Amino acid sequence: MTVHIAGLDVTVSDHLRQRCAWCGILLVDQDLTAVAVPAGTEDRPFPRWPSNALVVVEGGASALLPVPPMGVLPVGTCVDQVTPAPDVPR
Ligand SMILES: [Zn+2]
Repeated sequence: MTVHIAGLDVTVSDHLRQRCAWCGILLVDQDLTAVAVPAGTEDRPFPRWPSNALVVVEGGASALLPVPPMGVLPVGTCVDQVTPAPDVPR
């Protein structure tokens, strides 16, 4: 079990991706043309995590965690396991 921090979701053409803002793991990777939806709901967006939400991932399952007090991350976050990426040269 690892807790990630949802980054911004990005849709390019018919593909949606959302990565962890810290470690970059894919939280959502969906070909939107492969999604079947009930008639009349075609205009509803495919589900994604709110930006900055804490998402616990275990195996193929994931769930939203409640927001902890400011500045306190739960045990088991990727922040404790991954060194942040270096700055991108400008
Ligand atoms: Zn992460």
